[in-house]
Amino acid sequence: MNENSLIRLSIFFGVFSLMALLELAWPARHAALKRRYRWQANLSVVVIGAIIARLILPATLAGVAIFAQDNQLGLFHHLVPPPWLAIVLGVLWLDCVIYWQHRLFHRVPVLWRIHRMHHADSHVDTTTGLRFHPVEIMLSLGIKAAAILLLGVPALAVVIFEVALNAFSIFNHSNIRLPQNIDDKLARLVITQRLHRIHHSQYAAETNSNFGFSVSWWDKLFGSFKARAQQPDENLDIGQQQYPPSKYNSSLWRLLTMPLDKPATDTKSAAYNAIDDSQK
Ligand SMILES: [Zn+2]
Ligand SMILES: [Zn+2]
Repeated sequence: MNENSLIRLSIFFGVFSLMALLELAWPARHAALKRRYRWQANLSVVVIGAIIARLILPATLAGVAIFAQDNQLGLFHHLVPPPWLAIVLGVLWLDCVIYWQHRLFHRVPVLWRIHRMHHADSHVDTTTGLRFHPVEIMLSLGIKAAAILLLGVPALAVVIFEVALNAFSIFNHSNIRLPQNIDDKLARLVITQRLHRIHHSQYAAETNSNFGFSVSWWDKLFGSFKARAQQPDENLDIGQQQYPPSKYNSSLWRLLTMPLDKPATDTKSAAYNAIDDSQK
């Protein structure tokens, strides 16, 4: 294991342990299901995703950036901005691409089937932040690799982005609740736990908001920011009505086969949209 992966793994375990401890000490919401049922499946899916990612892209995304540099591929290798600017713009570019990728996964029905597995978690905590279908991870790797090649993002920017994205995802999925006034201040810059829980609401109009994984400005810039849900955070209906909390719905096999399930027809989402339309 090289020094780079060791630093990345240490940051990952550091942030994960810290947020897991905080949510254990001060849980914002109580889960309907025992922790071990969800954690077993959520963490198994992380391991499977990581193995598949390694198999299809042995070079890692930083390797893609080095390849782009060696072959002078991408805008930055022709415009040649100062290194610090290339790093800042590179990180921003990748974060913006991930915001739009997330919107696309909600918009296109076949992609939603894959991403729905993330939303089917009946409770949101640190492990939800890592629970993505291996197919979503593969598609996302392809999108990120293309984004790196297009701009010629420096390898350091790729590493900073990946570490930050991972840490932010664990942070904003953790089951803690900051006081509303602190949350509102923080929300000017980042996606907080309350904001991301709105994204995990069962109501379509709320699910289709707060797509950012780290900073909140993409949602503000592109009109998808929602500061408050209709229900208070304490009793927000989280998850997908199609997948009520059960041991069965939390098995690894169910998680992996969820994209094959038919889309729900009589969801709260549809009812909620009807209410929304009548109010227009
Ligand atoms: Zn989503
Ligand atoms: Zn989420």
